[in-house]
Amino acid sequence: MKMPPLLLRYAPLAGVLLASACVPPPSAPVAPAPRPAADGSVPVEGPGLVSAADPRAAEAGAQMLRLGGSATDAAIATMLALTVVEPQSSGIGGGGFLVTGDAAGAVSTIDGRETAPRAATPEWFYVGGKPLPYADAIPGGRSVGVPGNLRLAAHAHNARGRLSWRTLFQPAIRLARDGFAITGRLRSSLESFARTGALDPAARALFYGPDGQPLPVGTIVRNPALAATLEGIAARGADSFYTGDNAATLAAKVGTAPVNPAPMTTADIAAYKAVERTPLCGQYRTYRICGMGPPSSGATTVYAILEQLERFDMKTLGPASPVAWHLIAESQRLAYADRDQYLADADFVQVPVAGLSDPAYLAGRSALISESATMPTVLPGTPPGAKLAFARAEPQDENGTTHFVAVDRWGNAASYTSTIEGPFGSGLMVGGYYLNNELTDFNIVPDKDGKPTANRVEGGKRPRSSMAPTLVYGPDGKLRLAIGAAGGATIPAQVAKAIIGVLDWNLSARDAIALPVIFAPGGDTVFVERGTSLEAMIPALQKLGHAKILARPPGFKANAIERVGNTWRGAADPRSEGIAVAP
Ligand code: GLU
Repeated sequence: MKMPPLLLRYAPLAGVLLASACVPPPSAPVAPAPRPAADGSVPVEGPGLVSAADPRAAEAGAQMLRLGGSATDAAIATMLALTVVEPQSSGIGGGGFLVTGDAAGAVSTIDGRETAPRAATPEWFYVGGKPLPYADAIPGGRSVGVPGNLRLAAHAHNARGRLSWRTLFQPAIRLARDGFAITGRLRSSLESFARTGALDPAARALFYGPDGQPLPVGTIVRNPALAATLEGIAARGADSFYTGDNAATLAAKVGTAPVNPAPMTTADIAAYKAVERTPLCGQYRTYRICGMGPPSSGATTVYAILEQLERFDMKTLGPASPVAWHLIAESQRLAYADRDQYLADADFVQVPVAGLSDPAYLAGRSALISESATMPTVLPGTPPGAKLAFARAEPQDENGTTHFVAVDRWGNAASYTSTIEGPFGSGLMVGGYYLNNELTDFNIVPDKDGKPTANRVEGGKRPRSSMAPTLVYGPDGKLRLAIGAAGGATIPAQVAKAIIGVLDWNLSARDAIALPVIFAPGGDTVFVERGTSLEAMIPALQKLGHAKILARPPGFKANAIERVGNTWRGAADPRSEGIAVAP
C-alpha cells in the first residue's frame, strides 16, 4: 500500500503503522493519497477526512470512513485508538464532549463528562480539615470521576453510527495487541510523570525500563491488557465497562489507591449516563458558531470572546497589529471572568447560559473594551437570568487532552474533545487504561469570601470543563470549520483565536491554528506564546497598558477540518504530532 505523504514525516513509525493500522481490510477501497497544500494541510474532495493528534489514531478513523462509516463512527474509532497511542492525554478511563452536525446544519451535543461519586462532598479534597494543595490532589483515587467516554460513544453510535460497534474497536485492538511506537510527546510526558506522579505498577511495567527510566522514543510497546479490555467491550457493549468485573476492579482500584483512596462504588459506575444537551449556538458576523454548553465552559467562553469583538474591525487590523491582540486579550479577560463566576454543571447550579450568550449583554460587556487602553480591573458581569450569588474562583492550571474531527461523504461532521485531564490522569491503571483525574477540575476550596462557588464538588456532579469542540457554519448554511483544542483553560482562547484567523483574517485553518496564542484568563496577567511574534510584541502591548505579560512555552494542540468550496482541508497543530488522514 502506498503511504500517504504526511505519514512520511513519521518514517520511524512506518513499520508499526503499516503493520497495525494502515492496512485496510481487503474489501475497503483504497483512495489515492492526497497531496498536502502549501501550508501542509490536506485538501480532499469526496469521502471525508479525519484530523487527530496522532497519525495512527487519525488513520483508525480514516479506516472507518473507508469502510463506509459515518463521521461519528470515525470519531469513536479515533477516540479508542488514542486510548492506546496517546495514553497520557485521553482514553476510555476519561470523558469528553462530542458535537455533531449533519449536512443540513442540525447540531447535537453529547456530554460524556465524568461524574463525582455519590459520596463526594464540597470538602472532598480536604484532609485533616485543610484543602490538599492542587498537585497533591491529583494522584490516586480522590481525583477520579466515573469515566464517560464509552457511554458517550455508545449513545453517539446508536444515534449516528453506520458500522457495527465491534468494527470501531478493531484498529485500537490491533494497536494495543501488535504494538505501537513511543512518540517524542509520549516520552516527554513519561519523563515528567516519573518526576511528579504516582506510578501504578501496571503502568510502570508498560512504559518504563528496569532502571526506572521511560523507554526510548520508537520503542514498540504492546498493551495486551488493554487489547483484552477493548475486545471485551467490542463484544459485549459499553455496559460491560460499567458493570461486572470492570466496574468492580475500577471501584477497588480507586478505593485502595496507595495515595488518596476514595469511596467510589460499583453503583456510582453503573449509574453513569451520557447526556444529550442542548447545543449552544450564536451568530458571529455572518457565521453560526455552535458548541458545548455546561458542564463545559467551552461554548459560552468562545462565543463571548468572539461576540465582544464583533464591533471591532478585526479584518483591517490583521494579525500583525498589536491592537488586534490587545482586543483579543481584553475580550478574553471579560469572558473568563464570567466563566469563573457562573460556569458549572447546570444540573446542580443555575447557569445563566442564555444570558451569557445574549448579544445585548455581550454588547454591554464589549463597551468596556477600549482600543487604546487596558481595563484596569475586570469583574464578572450580571447576565440576564443570573439569580444565584456565587463567588468567583480563579482557574486552576491544567493540561492534557486531545481533540479530533471527522467529516464523512454525507456531509456530517463530528468534533470530539476527549480527556483524562492531566498527563496520565490520576496515574491509576485498570485493564491497561489510565483513570482520569477529572475531579480536580472542581474548585478544591468550595467557598470564597463566605459564598459558595458554582463549581464546588458535589456527589454525582460533573466538574466544569474548558473543552470546546466547535462547529462553524457559513452564511450558506454549510459547515465551514470544525475545530477544538487541548490545553485546559487555554482551550477557549485557542479556539476563538483560530476562528478569528479563519473568518476575519482569511487564513487557512492550519495557519490560523499556527498563529501564536495569547491567553488572558481574567486577572491582569497576559500570557503570550514564547518564541513567537507575540513575544516580540510585548513592548507594544505594554504601551497599551498590559503591565504583566509573561511568555509561556508553546504547549498547545488544536485540530480542525475546514471546507473550502467543495474541498475538505485537514489541519493539525504544527506544535503537535497531529495529522489529517484521508480515507
Ligand atoms: N480537564 C480539562 C477540561 O476539561 C482539560 C484538560 C486539558 O486540556 O489540559 O477542561
